Amino acid sequence: VRRLRDVGEHAWIARFVRDLSSQRRGARIVVGPGDDAAVVRPGRRALLLTTDTLIENVHFRAGWVSPAALGRRAFRVSVSDLAAMGGGPTFALLAIEAPPRLAVGHLDALVRGFRAAAGASGAALVGGNLTAGSHLAITVALLGEAPGRIVTRAGGRAGDALYVTGTIGGAGLAVRRLRAGRRGRLPDPPLRLRAGRELAPFAHAMIDVSDGLVQDVGHLCRASGVAAELEAASLPLALGCRRALGQAALTFAATAGEDYELVVAVPPRREHLAARLSPRLGCRLSRVGRLVAGRPGVRLRDAAGRVLALPRDGFDHFT
Ligand SMILES: [Mg+2]
Repeated sequence: VRRLRDVGEHAWIARFVRDLSSQRRGARIVVGPGDDAAVVRPGRRALLLTTDTLIENVHFRAGWVSPAALGRRAFRVSVSDLAAMGGGPTFALLAIEAPPRLAVGHLDALVRGFRAAAGASGAALVGGNLTAGSHLAITVALLGEAPGRIVTRAGGRAGDALYVTGTIGGAGLAVRRLRAGRRGRLPDPPLRLRAGRELAPFAHAMIDVSDGLVQDVGHLCRASGVAAELEAASLPLALGCRRALGQAALTFAATAGEDYELVVAVPPRREHLAARLSPRLGCRLSRVGRLVAGRPGVRLRDAAGRVLALPRDGFDHFT
């Protein structure tokens, strides 16, 4: 029997997406499975759809975050996929699996945290489900719209510059410390809705970084049919990560995941426009490399141009 751990999350999804590719055509499905969000056109307007799940003891453990922060996290992790398309959320569904022993106040606070985060982003919670289970699990479905262009992972071209919002490595470091039993809190994922919306008009392609920069840039490369060269010295490492890990911070941050920043491919003729936008994004915008012709894949180079070996590309649930 071939098991999921033999195949891996991303390879299984890639196969599933290939099987569904015949369904991708047609006016009502604009972007089918395989991108950050689906884009459908049931009526005159295009709608974005995305779903995500957070599971206790997989994505978080009790005590890592307050109930309200967990609700906020569930929303932000999902909304990151809409930001990566240049869109924003309009309506949300929240399905929760909870153990019967869970304190009612805990669940109340979780849902309040979710609602507050959704409301602050202009989205309304319009339904959901509550079921019993052995652990806390939170599934979010978001409906969204894009005010302008919808940007997928697939439009990148050789020559495009790659930019990253915010910093990377900070959340991954927090997870590593918490897993090791050290005290601390899981930081809130950043909200990059404005950055996604502002950058979308200039972008060839975008993706959010959930499973590690190298791995997610790799997804963009495969969808776009190009390779990527990242400059190690340009990666915006979180200060805490650099301080804590020193020399090891670079490869850790490039592959750790949990960042929920955006990677944006910008054609050279539009780079000056992206740079001009930078003060309006509410976060840093760093140029970290470029797309090049070649077999899809990501190379991380040091200042001398040497390709750095990476222990892994990023996070996979099964391997
Ligand atoms: Mg994504």
